[in-house]
Amino acid sequence: MTFNIQDKTHILMDCDGVVWKGNKPIPGSKEALENLEALGYQLGFVTNNSSLSRQGFIDKFISLGFESEKYVIVNSGYGAAIYLRENMLSKIFMIGEKGLRHELIHQGLSVEELYQPDLQAVCIGWDRKLTWTKLADAMWVILNNEGGFVGTNPDNSFPSADRLVPGAGAGIAALANACGKDPDIIIGKPNPYLLNLCLKKMGCTDSTKAVFIGDRLSTDIKAGIDAEMDTILVQTGISDFHLKKTILPTYTLESLAQIDQLI
Ligand SMILES: [Mg+2]
Repeated sequence: MTFNIQDKTHILMDCDGVVWKGNKPIPGSKEALENLEALGYQLGFVTNNSSLSRQGFIDKFISLGFESEKYVIVNSGYGAAIYLRENMLSKIFMIGEKGLRHELIHQGLSVEELYQPDLQAVCIGWDRKLTWTKLADAMWVILNNEGGFVGTNPDNSFPSADRLVPGAGAGIAALANACGKDPDIIIGKPNPYLLNLCLKKMGCTDSTKAVFIGDRLSTDIKAGIDAEMDTILVQTGISDFHLKKTILPTYTLESLAQIDQLI
């Protein structure tokens, strides 16, 4: 089967390693997005990062010079909040940062950061102030209250400006290990949950009309395949090309800027 981007209506993509790297746009990404929008494609952005709220991501796009008014943005904090609400879990013990708290509260959930006997679930994301006490309280919610256990994203490490640092997945693994229990769900890619949520928010009911662009085979491309979408691997971010024999993207480009080759 040949891949033809003209058959698509919705183009979804990861952010870090595709559109920007840290706080710098990847060369040509801005022009590529403007071009795709001008051609009538609907653009959606799916990121595992839970440290910012969706508004935080819009602000980041604007600060980097992107025109983001029409972008649909879905991140793992928002996805976790939707999952908890849909599963009737409303009293949440949170381990995370401001962006995650904002998304949970925005869905009408009550958010605590100290143990209480009526808490119904733990939601754990990236927390640069993670402590033993937070893990102990979360453990008590899961074991004593038989609460739900929801992780935002499985990324074990995160590339900060000067070194690799622990990601949300490191905290989730510590909690899972302490409890002797895996999370009920980890929302972020490679789970296709966020991609399906983004398609729904964009009003796209046919995943074959969409394509997902990412820089990581083990998370982005795997999630795209599981969401039954065509996928494009770009080589501007974290490369796990050794997996290329087992996880097969539909198409590979050097960077987002080269998408005009397909149009
Ligand atoms: Mg990435």
